[in-house]
Amino acid sequence: MPEGDTVWQAARRLHDALAGKVLTRSDLRVPKFATADLTGRTVLDVTPRGKHLLTRVEGGLTLHSHLRMDGSWKVFTNDQRWTGGPAHQIRAILGNHDRTAVGYRLPVLELLRTADESRAVGHLGPDLLGPDWNPEQALANLLADPARSLGEALLDQRNLAGIGNVYKSEVCFLLGVTPWLPAGALPADRAAKLPALAKRLLDANREHPVRNTTGARGQNLFVYGRAPRPCLRCGTPVRVADQGDGSRERPTYWCPACQTGPAPAPGSPPTRRIRPRSPR
Ligand SMILES: [Zn+2]
Repeated sequence: MPEGDTVWQAARRLHDALAGKVLTRSDLRVPKFATADLTGRTVLDVTPRGKHLLTRVEGGLTLHSHLRMDGSWKVFTNDQRWTGGPAHQIRAILGNHDRTAVGYRLPVLELLRTADESRAVGHLGPDLLGPDWNPEQALANLLADPARSLGEALLDQRNLAGIGNVYKSEVCFLLGVTPWLPAGALPADRAAKLPALAKRLLDANREHPVRNTTGARGQNLFVYGRAPRPCLRCGTPVRVADQGDGSRERPTYWCPACQTGPAPAPGSPPTRRIRPRSPR
């Protein structure tokens, strides 16, 4: 599941393959931009912004994409066979004389003027992996709606950008509170630690293909995807339940012994069958 660290890695792969080179191939397979042709333009840079990717090309244009749940950008040398999925899932192709980037299953793909990028990403809060990172602002945003659950506040990219469902569960575990705790009820000492903790986790993982929050080998995550196995700290079975606003429920993991705060009653089944995805 793409989170800020995954998107950061995707941006770097794309940047390494495309930046500074002239596009010799351009194919956007979404109706609105199907006739757009970027060939002959140099790619200037590829920048992650939260979970969004901004590919800037000469002439003041930006290709904005978002991976959501299972989109991906793959980079191939021009003699390689493409392996990212069936051809009908391809949404974008950008290539130069020696590399081709292929975007699969991209739910968001739009071409806009670079000057108008804020239309696509202007709503985002401080970016955990970006040059605009601002821990004080991120914390103020998270606490601005004190009745909202911490888990939902962490996922809201307007508060801070980069946390997805895996880090949501892991950050709450490391803070010792359940994701259902109202943000305003987070003890002040833990609230003060939250921004730096989240940034440390994403920073530590942005260079690594396998996401790890524990620092231990062989056990990459404390709670996410681990129900009903024993908690790594205390041995209590890790629990899972859905959390969301009703329109979008996300499987949420926690240890009922290590984490204090409200939680769904034991035995209440998730609203749908949960098959955890691989953590990346
Ligand atoms: Zn525990």
